[in-house]
Amino acid sequence: LKTTSDDIATGRCEARSHDRSGEYSMPAGKTYFYITCPFCFDRSKVYAWSMAGRGKRCPCGAMHDGLGRTHRKVERK
Ligand SMILES: [Zn+2]
Repeated sequence: LKTTSDDIATGRCEARSHDRSGEYSMPAGKTYFYITCPFCFDRSKVYAWSMAGRGKRCPCGAMHDGLGRTHRKVERK
């Protein structure tokens, strides 16, 4: 189930705060860190610049945003 920015904007998602760990500053603005998905507990390596845009999709379909939260679309019955 893929969460899109549209789903987030229209509130069709559940949001949970995520844990960020290990911020590594690299040359040329390639700072990265790890986010642990609060839904599937997969740890993703995320570049800071990519978070400034649309966020980062987790393999489970949730979206990590740059504000410390992860959104996952809620399936409607
Ligand atoms: Zn996930």
